[in-house]
Amino acid sequence: MGLEGQVALVTGASRGIGRAIALRLARDGADVCVNYARDVSGAGAVVQEIAKTGRRAFADQADVAVVDQARRLVAETVARLGRLDILVNNAGIEIEQPFLDVTEEAYDRVLAVNLKGAFFCAQAAAREMVRQGQGGRIVNISSVHEDLAMPGNSPYCLSKGGMRMLTRTVCLELAPHQITVNDVGPGAIRTSINEATLSDPALLKRLQARIPLGRVGCPDDVAEIVAYLVSPRASYVTGSSYFVDGGLMRQAGSL
Ligand code: BGC
Repeated sequence: MGLEGQVALVTGASRGIGRAIALRLARDGADVCVNYARDVSGAGAVVQEIAKTGRRAFADQADVAVVDQARRLVAETVARLGRLDILVNNAGIEIEQPFLDVTEEAYDRVLAVNLKGAFFCAQAAAREMVRQGQGGRIVNISSVHEDLAMPGNSPYCLSKGGMRMLTRTVCLELAPHQITVNDVGPGAIRTSINEATLSDPALLKRLQARIPLGRVGCPDDVAEIVAYLVSPRASYVTGSSYFVDGGLMRQAGSL
């Protein structure tokens, strides 16, 4: 299906969007490093599912917020699977606090995982791709909130705005190496990051009313566009953001 012989590293792949991306890329032919920070059993289950498809996979614990760990993650992917062609920077967290109450700790943690982690994983992966000399693909999983304000979630919005500029700036530096860098911005997707909303019928109804297509998305909706962006079909696509949000961004401000 187009990715045979390629190796992908997906950060935060033990569940949710990262899990769906890891499974999809394996189905499309790639061998996969399944990174996780804490959920060892989730990551193990993803590895087992990939093994059933006949692809190679392994789970690798690393907190991408720590630069040494991000670098080790890339090095281990290459050591275990032989090369690295695709990086999907998916690991992300949010700590919702009103701006007036945001603590330094919450700010640092959100920015460290979402932005610093993506930055240094991309740097380490790109160094390897440049060394290999055969191009590569980097996809940053951002959010509609790289552009759309979300009151009560300012560090998260900042981190996603940063990912957008990470994509736009770094794509220029990596283009001469035929490494593309794109960004995918999910809207409201059925994953644990949205647990509080999904488990409250009133909140869920309010959220769905704001989504023009009338439903919360699923992880496979996001994996689909990532599969395209990392495939040979997207060799001329770089530096862009793609939103998978049921129209949520266009709805902003019209209520
Ligand atoms: C956030 C969710 C939010 C969604 C739509 C995502 O990036 O993680 O908390 O529901 O955007 O606003």
